[in-house]
Amino acid sequence: MHKILVTGGAGFLGSHLCELLVAQGHDVLCVDNFYTGGKGNIQHLLDKPNFELLRHDVTFPLYVEVGQIYNLACPASPIHYQRDPVQTTKTSVHGAINMLGLAKRTRARILQASTSEVYGDPEVHPQTEAYWGRVNPIGPRSCYDEGKRCAETLFFDYYRQHQLDIKVVRIFNTYGPRMHPDDGRVVSNFIVQALRGADLTIYGSGSQTRSFCYVDDLIDAMTRMMAADRSFIGPVNIGNPGEFTMLQLAEMVLRLVGGTSRLTYLPAPEDDPMQRQPDIRLAKEKLGWAPKVGLEDGLKETIAYFRRTLNA
Ligand code: NAD
Ligand code: UDP
Repeated sequence: MHKILVTGGAGFLGSHLCELLVAQGHDVLCVDNFYTGGKGNIQHLLDKPNFELLRHDVTFPLYVEVGQIYNLACPASPIHYQRDPVQTTKTSVHGAINMLGLAKRTRARILQASTSEVYGDPEVHPQTEAYWGRVNPIGPRSCYDEGKRCAETLFFDYYRQHQLDIKVVRIFNTYGPRMHPDDGRVVSNFIVQALRGADLTIYGSGSQTRSFCYVDDLIDAMTRMMAADRSFIGPVNIGNPGEFTMLQLAEMVLRLVGGTSRLTYLPAPEDDPMQRQPDIRLAKEKLGWAPKVGLEDGLKETIAYFRRTLNA
């Protein structure tokens, strides 16, 4: 069996992916510069003979021998990707060039973790893969959104120009255990605030929507895409179509956690998309995949995880 490279493997999604691949018996090389991820996420894998960890920044070339590449390296939460926006664009763009170059040399199949952010603040709802998006090229979110769009361009050009074996998935908001407690994303923020008895921070009116996918469903879809027929390259939306306003999410978290927290309103961030819901008909048809975990069940698992983490 070929070695599988997971870039960003010490992050939230990457660590779940590494865990599954190692459990399936694959030889896994996890590459990460620990910008937002941590060794704690993969600690339990370090003594496995089929798991290897390499500290490396994907904006620099990497020479290893692998048969498959999952390219996940990139900070995903707005506060993290906006902290050093130039580095965020470099990670997406130089990182894609380096990993595509590696795939070209080794003839490895390569999967890009793209994002619903390529649709920006969408006028088409729900978003289908055919929609080109509405992205501000010069705003505070652009380093991430445009970086990921350019990475998709590179993937498709390497496919057309060098016949590379590519796969592109567009991931919608995903949550679950191992999200960083200070990561700033809405699910982790609300749960940590509720567990600490602090008020839940609603940005803007709270009427903006997101569709939240539980991590296990997401990883299942990603590995199905990697295993799919060579002719199906994507892009394919992966997410849970259940759509909620931030107020609905806050109320659900408060009900599940209990306690005395209330809601507090803060200004909306610039260019905050107002609505987001994946159209997942393509994933259903081509991957035979649909999410199984509803928001309430996924939140219960995530709350239990944060309870343990915060107590420790
Ligand atoms: P995360 O921040 O937990 O993980 C990203 C990982 O990449 C971290 O371990 C980080 O240290 C590493 N990294 C960052 N820059 C790097 C670099 N230059 N070189 C090597 N490693 C680097 O985020 P996540 O939620 O696990 O997201 C993983 C991927 O999935 C990202 O590419 C993200 O854009 C994409 N994605 C995630 C979501 C989501 O809701 N979680 C949604 C859409 C897309
Ligand atoms: N949000 C919020 N309170 C928070 C954090 C986020 O109301 O404490 C809102 C944010 O403005 C956005 C939504 O929740 O409308 C999702 O934000 P997140 O950062 O999780 O993801 P993204 O905006 O990248 O989809």
